[in-house]
Amino acid sequence: MNPILIHEVGPRDGLQVEAAVVPTEVKLDWIRRVADSGVDIVQVGSFVRGDKVPQMADTDELFRILAKEAHHALLSGLVLNEKGLERALEVGVPLICLGVSASETHSRKNTGMGTDEAQRRIIATALAAKQAGRKVQVSVQSAFGCGFEGPIPEARVMGIVAAYLEAGLTSISLADTAGHAHPAQVRRYVQSVLALDPNTELTAHIHNTYGLGMASVYAAMEAGAKAIETSFGGLGGCPFTKVAAGNVATEDLVHVLQRTGQRLDIDLAALIGVSRDVARHLGRELPGCVYKTGPIQESNRR
Ligand code: ZN
Repeated sequence: MNPILIHEVGPRDGLQVEAAVVPTEVKLDWIRRVADSGVDIVQVGSFVRGDKVPQMADTDELFRILAKEAHHALLSGLVLNEKGLERALEVGVPLICLGVSASETHSRKNTGMGTDEAQRRIIATALAAKQAGRKVQVSVQSAFGCGFEGPIPEARVMGIVAAYLEAGLTSISLADTAGHAHPAQVRRYVQSVLALDPNTELTAHIHNTYGLGMASVYAAMEAGAKAIETSFGGLGGCPFTKVAAGNVATEDLVHVLQRTGQRLDIDLAALIGVSRDVARHLGRELPGCVYKTGPIQESNRR
């Protein structure tokens, strides 16, 4: 079995919902340490308007600084539209992430466009990024249910996936924006995508709103997902319930993988150190477990 890849999205998915703006120097410290811990990809920020989302206003600057440095991890940035792509290309983002919401209401609230129009524009933007020589990942947001609409038909989700695959976009993330995913559903969806194209590089992005995060991540991995998006300390929020319920914590997933002999190349202590610093900086406890408990000691295994 190929090792599960870890895509750290805390600096983007986590920090974008924080009330306070984290200073650029502090973000840089966290990003550098995670990017050298052995995880595979780190999402640095999002190319949104700085006046609308001040937490992400330094994304261009972060990339300009990080582009001059050598780090183990590939760096990714989230792009929402054509203007965002221009900025991402200018600062040399190696992996460009884009997405469409499967929920018509969520899509309209976020982008002012329905799902069909958003899908056409995002595919065109993704292809432009590819032509510019960048790696590209496309996602389906609210894939497992929506805080506005409730259940989203599976056929609707697979329709977006099929359109991506037809366009030659084979790195695809299924995102559980609201945290509605449950393990049996995640297993089925991963199998459905791989039935469309077994070569899909599939990522799962699962929020822990209802406590189902790690179980759903396991279902995704066992069904054939290649990568999981996680956030340090489990940081993040749910835009629908307004509760602190981020992604599965990066260090929690690395810890459990290492207990079964996987991803021993990742420096778990370094990840725990970052999450402790994030919690200290934000002045509160984060949802993750292992940054608080520390790993189960070697002697206690089995
Ligand atoms: Zn998310």
